[in-house]
Amino acid sequence: MSIPRFEAITESNSRKPLTTEEKGRRSEYFGTHVFNEERMLQYLTRDAYNSVKDAIFSGSKIDRKIADQVAEAMKVWAISMGATHYTHWFQPLTGATAEKHDAFLDLKQDGRAVEKFGGSQLVQQEPDASSFPSGGIRNTFEARGYTAWDPTSPAFIYGSTLCIPTIFVSYTGEALDNKAPLLRALHAVDEAATGVARYFDKNVTKVNATLGWEQEYFLLDKALAASRPDLVLAGRTLVGHYAAKGQQLDDHYFGVIPVRAINFMRDLEMECNKLGIPVKTRHNEVAPNQFELAPVFEEANLAVDHNLLLMDVMEKVADKHDLKVLFHEKPFAGINGSGKHNNWSLATDTGVNLLSPGTTPMKNLQFLTFFVNTIKAVDTYEELLRSSIASASNDHRLGANEAPPAIISIFIGKQLSDVLDELEGVSQGKLSPEEKTELKLNVVGKIPEILLDNTDRNRTSPFAFTGNKFEIRGVGAKTNCAKPMTILNAIVAWQLNAFKKEVDSLIDKKKLKKDEAIFNVLREYIKSSKRIRFDGDGYSQEWELEAKRRKLSNNKNTPEALQVMTSSEALALFKSMEVMSEIEVRARQEVEQETYILQTQIEGRVFNELVYNYIIPASLSYQNELITNVLGLKEIYGAAHKKLSDGQHAIIEQIAEHVATIKKKTDQMTEARKRANKLKDIPKKAQAYCNSVRPYFDEIRYHSDKLEQLVANSSWPLAKYRELLFIK
Ligand code: ADP
Ligand code: MG
Repeated sequence: MSIPRFEAITESNSRKPLTTEEKGRRSEYFGTHVFNEERMLQYLTRDAYNSVKDAIFSGSKIDRKIADQVAEAMKVWAISMGATHYTHWFQPLTGATAEKHDAFLDLKQDGRAVEKFGGSQLVQQEPDASSFPSGGIRNTFEARGYTAWDPTSPAFIYGSTLCIPTIFVSYTGEALDNKAPLLRALHAVDEAATGVARYFDKNVTKVNATLGWEQEYFLLDKALAASRPDLVLAGRTLVGHYAAKGQQLDDHYFGVIPVRAINFMRDLEMECNKLGIPVKTRHNEVAPNQFELAPVFEEANLAVDHNLLLMDVMEKVADKHDLKVLFHEKPFAGINGSGKHNNWSLATDTGVNLLSPGTTPMKNLQFLTFFVNTIKAVDTYEELLRSSIASASNDHRLGANEAPPAIISIFIGKQLSDVLDELEGVSQGKLSPEEKTELKLNVVGKIPEILLDNTDRNRTSPFAFTGNKFEIRGVGAKTNCAKPMTILNAIVAWQLNAFKKEVDSLIDKKKLKKDEAIFNVLREYIKSSKRIRFDGDGYSQEWELEAKRRKLSNNKNTPEALQVMTSSEALALFKSMEVMSEIEVRARQEVEQETYILQTQIEGRVFNELVYNYIIPASLSYQNELITNVLGLKEIYGAAHKKLSDGQHAIIEQIAEHVATIKKKTDQMTEARKRANKLKDIPKKAQAYCNSVRPYFDEIRYHSDKLEQLVANSSWPLAKYRELLFIK
């Protein structure tokens, strides 16, 4: 019988690259499939246009009549573009997006068909969504959940469906998705940052958080990926000896992009352009078959939607090119995994990046204000930020000596460290004219517009300042950016509110001038948040010890990392920023724990299949070949055969040993799973999966990889790393 591995190799070797033609100038068809500004002006009445713009800018409600008009306009446009269906597009807590399509088609009373889409369908829908994770919210309250239009993210046509970005909430208003809390956090940071930005410029009326993600991913041949149960079911290779050549020659990073990959990228980019996703950068990443795509940054909510849409488009376009895209954070052992750096900043409606140093001392004081407050926020809530990027798959990266450690610290570079050191020495209370001049000329005034450390690549830092933005590096490739963005914006909002209160109080009660008050508060923040700043090697052992001395958290696995979500400080933060109620936080924590359990359970089951149905049978069949050989030699040579079959004997025995151990370990893992499954308490169960089940995975893998090295290539059933990893 033929082995699927070899059929897949033959299939993948026979592929012809699918060439793709540019459809014209990209700037000309950018956003053609989006109900954007241009379409709104074209299709909406002035009233409707103003109403939608107002809703986007200030979150005002859109009344029913206007919603009808908007829906009608969207329908006319969508049908003219060939759309037949519409859907509310939302982000349940599964991490992916969800959609349920309805045709525009409806019947009139006389039986004639018409296309219908009204305000009520635009604004709200009630999908039968009882199968989405809710952490018990829908059981305890109301069985129903509904989706509600998010006008801040424009509708778009995907395939033949008009997609309307929506939030997903329970009947009693609890968020059941990743978008609703994000929107609340963005609102909180807008209010807080606007308040502070107005110290410097009264014209500021709104501050948007901005996000530019950098999506890393792997591309594999579709047939080869389909030939391995672990890639199909767990999204990563659970076993597999590394190829003789991996990334050690650094010949893939920024190298010439393989033909099949570049064709895929071009096709993908064209799709993205139609959908208004401003893709910009593409390159090979460090590991073989690993690539990266980055867009021009956007307002954070839109950027999150665009990242989720992108991941979906990538899977579809890859399929067309007979490729499989992997977003798993660690699909292969021994080579780099995939992350998704989140570049973040704050931008005013007057066009100023609040984290960009400026040309005047005042602009630089504004920059320092937002810069130091962000550092302070991260220092206070470092553990919560860590929890927002925790997942079973990202556990393979964080702290695994290739990605940022599980310890959150901030890299700011030498120039800015020097500035903060100087500011630490600012006098208490009122400042003398000389000190003010000195600060203006020689400290604040000396911050260059372009920072040298901008180019510094301290890749080991999980939270780095890169010139005019912060970059969260620990985010996993699969993660919905809404999660870290919700936390980061919520903690910065909280911090900026606290800052404003302190500054205002110094101005009112101590009669300090505004800049004196700001310097005074910043000085204290710089002092109290020192422990979070670290410019050294985040991968080193010494840092781990030093971080412990600094009392920074170091939660190495998801069950541990998730605990802090429901600490009294975290609950108070979410409540005061109106980001999540306690019920919502507890539900979310439970969903994350459940997801961890389920993903680990799936991997455990796949191990069972791999070991019993692939690895052991292949090993025994090769062992039988050797035994037949030895018996043959004995028949021919009699007693003299011993000397001739030394090597065979050794291999037979090694296979026997590894088979015995891998079977034993797999059975023990199954028993550990059974014990874990009996636990009713979800956090305890997650911990049991983490501490009692997962450790077996490495052991099983070790013996499998040894067997892979012993068994004849022609008998090994699973596509090998060297076959998976070097597409042309
Ligand atoms: P790299 O970090 O690889 O050197 P860049 O710094 O140029 O690359 O940008 C990486 C990402 O950061 C891009 O997606 C870019 O759009 C985004 N970015 C740049 N400026 C900002 C900003 N002010 N806010 C948010 N993201 C930004
Ligand atoms: Mg970057």
